Amino acid sequence: MPLVPMKQILDEAKKGGYGVGAYNVNNMEQIQAIMQAARETQSPLIIQASKGALEYTSFTYLKHLMMAAAEENPDLPIALHLDHGPDLETVKKAIDIGFTSVMIDGSLDYSKKTDSGSHPARTFEDNIRVTKEVVDYAHACGVTVEGELGTLGGIEDDTHAESVHLTDPNEVEEFMAKTGADALAVAIGTSHGAYKFKEAPVLALDLVSEIHKRVPELALVMHGSSSVPQELVDRVNKYGGQMKKTMGVPMESIQEAIRCGVAKVNIDTDGRLVLTGVIRQVFTEKPSEFDPRKYLGPARKALAEFYALKMQQLGTAGHAKDYAPLTLEDMKKVYGDK
Ligand SMILES: [Zn+2]
Repeated sequence: MPLVPMKQILDEAKKGGYGVGAYNVNNMEQIQAIMQAARETQSPLIIQASKGALEYTSFTYLKHLMMAAAEENPDLPIALHLDHGPDLETVKKAIDIGFTSVMIDGSLDYSKKTDSGSHPARTFEDNIRVTKEVVDYAHACGVTVEGELGTLGGIEDDTHAESVHLTDPNEVEEFMAKTGADALAVAIGTSHGAYKFKEAPVLALDLVSEIHKRVPELALVMHGSSSVPQELVDRVNKYGGQMKKTMGVPMESIQEAIRCGVAKVNIDTDGRLVLTGVIRQVFTEKPSEFDPRKYLGPARKALAEFYALKMQQLGTAGHAKDYAPLTLEDMKKVYGDK
């Protein structure tokens, strides 16, 4: 099966009332773990890579790893998504190598950086301008577009906002009417990275419900939605790590957000914690081990089990064969008819 446009995966999730995890990757073991989890639970899935991940892996390597994932799993709907695309140039490169979805993060100006390494927010008008430019290019290729309104806290890769603003539902309608984006990352109190919160967060779910009510055709996206389970942090620290006390977004809050209208749930940090914890454990328990397969293998297995559970919890499990997948060619026609 060729890779599927993300719009279809999210539209089906909205219809079915479940969420789809978007899992960040930058190496083979992560991709294999996610594919194993999706196979076992029969889940549609979104695999995503940030610009930083693509620079680490290279666009060409990631492309071939993803094509291998699709070739080995012809029965699963898989979308390949660019996470936090900073500009049209990066979007074009991603579409060139076969991404079926791109995010343009027009909420921040990635071309500018403050002394602390953060990016200033763009104005609403400027966000509309850069997002529209990407929508015009991507839709002509049948590719889905995710935009962002409002800014999230925390740091992950290069996504460090100078200040945090929740999404304003009043702006969403105008933004969507003027850009035509398919999905929207909303700032509702989640946060990027491992160090999200000191205590359980209260998400602005009323905002999600309000936006969903006003623009029902829009697929809403939660960024920074790792749960950072205590046992994963404890495992890292038990085997020599020094992670500080932290909290993520509890799964119950994510499930509630899905009921309010969220369709895509971004997860990165949790996967990093699983891999690091298991690798540390092997290094501690078997200090003479030097074969990468002996520590990457167990880490990959633990990650597959962890993500299979996520797919159950998000409600994605069992939905892989609900619909006949569309191609980018099909989507070109859909966008062309509008
Ligand atoms: Zn993000």
